[in-house]
Amino acid sequence: MTSSLLDAVRAVFATGGALSQAEPQYRPRAGQTAMAEAVAQTICERGVLVVEAGTGVGKTYSYLVPALLSGQRVLVSTATKALQDQLFSRDLPHLVRSLGLPLRMARLKGRSSYLCLQRLLQVRLGREPLDAQVLRAVARVEDWARTTRTGDMAELPDVAEDSQVMPLVTSTRDNCVGRECAHWQACHVNHARQQALDADVTVVNHHLFFADLELRETGMTQLLPQAGVVVIDEAHQLNETGIQFAGLVLSSNQLLAYARDVMQDASQHARGMADWLVLAARLQQAVRDWRLLVGTGSSTQARLRWQGLAPETLDAATWRAAVVHVGRALRAVVQALSGVLEMAPALGQLHTRGESLLQRLAHFVRAVPDDAVRWLELGRQHLRLTESPLQIAKLVREQLMAGHPALGIKAFHAADMEPGGAWALPVETAATDTPMSQADVQLPSASVSAVHAAAQQHAHAAWIFTSATLGLGADLRWFTEPCGLQGAQVLRVDSPFDYASQAALYVPERFPLPSEPGHSAAVAQLAGEGAAVLGGRTLVLTTTLRALEPIGQLLRQRFGLLEPLDVLVQGQGSKHALMQRFRAGTVGGRGCVLVASNTFWEGVDIPGDALQLVVIDKLPFPPPDDPLVEARSRQLECLGRNPFADYVLPEAALALKQGVGRLIRTESDRGIVVVADTRLRTMGYGHSLLQAMPPMRWLEKEADWQAALQALLHPSRPAQAVRGAERRADAADGET
Ligand code: SF4
Repeated sequence: MTSSLLDAVRAVFATGGALSQAEPQYRPRAGQTAMAEAVAQTICERGVLVVEAGTGVGKTYSYLVPALLSGQRVLVSTATKALQDQLFSRDLPHLVRSLGLPLRMARLKGRSSYLCLQRLLQVRLGREPLDAQVLRAVARVEDWARTTRTGDMAELPDVAEDSQVMPLVTSTRDNCVGRECAHWQACHVNHARQQALDADVTVVNHHLFFADLELRETGMTQLLPQAGVVVIDEAHQLNETGIQFAGLVLSSNQLLAYARDVMQDASQHARGMADWLVLAARLQQAVRDWRLLVGTGSSTQARLRWQGLAPETLDAATWRAAVVHVGRALRAVVQALSGVLEMAPALGQLHTRGESLLQRLAHFVRAVPDDAVRWLELGRQHLRLTESPLQIAKLVREQLMAGHPALGIKAFHAADMEPGGAWALPVETAATDTPMSQADVQLPSASVSAVHAAAQQHAHAAWIFTSATLGLGADLRWFTEPCGLQGAQVLRVDSPFDYASQAALYVPERFPLPSEPGHSAAVAQLAGEGAAVLGGRTLVLTTTLRALEPIGQLLRQRFGLLEPLDVLVQGQGSKHALMQRFRAGTVGGRGCVLVASNTFWEGVDIPGDALQLVVIDKLPFPPPDDPLVEARSRQLECLGRNPFADYVLPEAALALKQGVGRLIRTESDRGIVVVADTRLRTMGYGHSLLQAMPPMRWLEKEADWQAALQALLHPSRPAQAVRGAERRADAADGET
């Protein structure tokens, strides 16, 4: 089996193979093939593989080709719905066609992504007054509901994900009445889940992946154990997504939604059995009073630490009184519901949901457990109580991959994949450069059957975890440790890009420190200087949302109406709209500068000339006063480890690597990265951070930066400031 699958995989990636035939521009890449071989071997051994594949390796095909050829049921999880859609709509169908495999594919999202026919009906019949804008959106949904086949709300681009209408027309586990529902047969959620159960390849996202694990109520609970190959793409987000599900959350929005559903369902199914409107209104009022109490606190932090009986800055007695007030109002609703349970399934659901909310509320009255961290998150109109484990290792080892025979970590590098290297595979037939016929590139059905039969003998799934950034050292410990994956095989595949000639790094010698008042103005000045030369093509990445506005404002002032540049700032439109404008480059003679933070540091793909300059305002250390960061640091201290070296620095390095990774997306891209933080030159840890970045050439002086800008503007002119990548490391060494 091992050699059959390996041979088939090599044939697909070889010159003249299926990919060459399907895509004339395809060229075999050593790193891509090496990763595909490692994945093939892992599938055959039912192993666990962690692969860091640098930008440009083509990792999607590296895991999809062996997974599809293995004949196993495949489950792929991506970090976001956007990546999920791209994989499902573009990469997967293209590859399935190229390989000529008759595979059924499905995409499954969380239930909140699908129209709930029952809730739509309730909105129509509902008593709750809705404003004109929401009513218009509901009418739009009703129109579309008559024709949609999937019920996927993404088909309605004019209804935003955070639109008020979304919770009204989609379901949650709490308010779905399941088999008792009158729409059960036509239910879009059920159809999507059934398709996923029937598919050979299913694409999900990490949120759904963990929700499934937590809930055990979806069809996926049957699908996951049956998948022979599980691929977690963008795995660097797995821990953060996982702890959200492993933790406990109670929000004012959940309570208000509950009160709203009581008002609707109980009034409809148990009219006159209690004064439902009054009960629900009391609960809503108690929740609003609670939020107001927090709003009057002195702190302006978005997250309040919570180590004692109440969140910091809040008086414990007052906090407790507000919680008790909410609890009493909630208990009154639950008690009233307990007398009408038999009247309709929806009432039973409401009762169970109310009890669960009460339990959660009671949990947050007790002290914080030792192995968890708790905090209060404040939005403009809501509050959210969260208690979270510090990592998902336990969840992974005890539930997700319980009993998987993964043993001690072995670290490999792509070079080891060479014949005779440390990862030498039991090769029986070497890949060939000889052009192949269509018959050669498609697995003969007999060998497909053999591959399938052998692979299905194994009891456990093969697991592949991959991303462009998973750690600093060879063991990728930043990722494997919190995810409980010690024992996985680890592979790193370098990016094929020639960073030394494609990209340059500039860290100004003299610059205000990030803590100094003039820093944002200096960042805007530097970014403006570059953008003026390049005619835009500049992405400014800030580490905080706070820095967006001053930098954006100064750039707007600099490029006023008379200058041919549009300055876009995150928040002034949807991410999709901002990216569309930025990708378009120069439009009507106007270039573009984009100032953005958080989600723009990763997952942003702008190949070509539209992006030539990335300016990072400061080193992206995790905020030290964040409750989760504090708790993780404390935990490492208790274990006798160094929180800065083992946690803070790797977090910053990984974030920096992500940000820098926005610049070079193809082999023909050229550009400059500016890190406007002199600590990269002067502090001892600067060297570690530089080592984490791609090996770009180093621009030592301001004149070098100016010359590099000119070289980008006039590509035929050689840059005077071209220096070897080693120079950058030398410079950092000398200053640490
Ligand atoms: S089964 Fe649940 S999700 Fe489906 S229509 Fe009914 S309430 Fe909505």
